[in-house]
Amino acid sequence: MIVMFSRGSKQKRNDVESLARFTANKLMPRMASKISVEFCFVTNLFKQEGVFGDCGYYEGDAVPRDFVIRLDAGIDELDLLKTVAHEMVHVKQIARNELKELIRSPYFRFHRNYYPKTIDYFDKPWEIEALGREEGLVVQWLNKKGEKRGNY
Ligand SMILES: [Zn+2]
Repeated sequence: MIVMFSRGSKQKRNDVESLARFTANKLMPRMASKISVEFCFVTNLFKQEGVFGDCGYYEGDAVPRDFVIRLDAGIDELDLLKTVAHEMVHVKQIARNELKELIRSPYFRFHRNYYPKTIDYFDKPWEIEALGREEGLVVQWLNKKGEKRGNY
């Protein structure tokens, strides 16, 4: 996996790259080498857009391989780590063609099912997967490193 950065301290970059590689190797071991992810630290992302992070990609690709993950530059360490794990679950969903935002259609496709784009955030099964895994992925990454941070 190619990992790039826009902004971010050395410490944050080291953590984000390590966690991103851990999650990619765990969630999509055969795809990881084909993926590139650029992490962009954005000042006031939460304040301005209401999210700690998001995941974008080049829509010209039938199945995207190149991703841009934006991260709020000011959130605390554990929120940052959970956000990285969460967005990497979305990278896996998109790169494995499990999740597709159908262009010029009112539907998302997730696995074999279609969901209206008006569906509530917390009802989206791909968000349920990402929310359900983010904490555990951080814990597993910390355990592998033999580290503890905050309450983990
Ligand atoms: Zn999400």
